[in-house]
Amino acid sequence: MKRLHCSMDPLMIGHLKNVLATFGIKCVTKKMDLISAAGQLPPTECWPELWVVDDDKLAKAKDILRKSLAPLSSVKKSWLCQNCDEKIEGQFSECWNCGCDRAGNQARGVVPLARRARLRR
Ligand SMILES: [Zn+2]
Repeated sequence: MKRLHCSMDPLMIGHLKNVLATFGIKCVTKKMDLISAAGQLPPTECWPELWVVDDDKLAKAKDILRKSLAPLSSVKKSWLCQNCDEKIEGQFSECWNCGCDRAGNQARGVVPLARRARLRR
């Protein structure tokens, strides 16, 4: 059994345990009740811990953990519009310039932001 992660938030540990369970990785939690007993900000060694039962799955578990903990902005890469070659930020699913989606399909009935801005003037 290997220690995977620790967090001062027991809810986060419980959440990650559930996430890993959906990937078929069995985990156990430790020190989940110490934090309430501490009364103040506890030292790291008192933080709730998440342990992977199966050592062989540690690498996979770390990978899943990294993805589920990463902020969305760093997960979503920017993309190039296939229609007009405009570079689009990862959080947008459509091109602001021409209104196409990532696959280059023009969304029907949607007026692109750039054209909307022009109409306002
Ligand atoms: Zn475009």
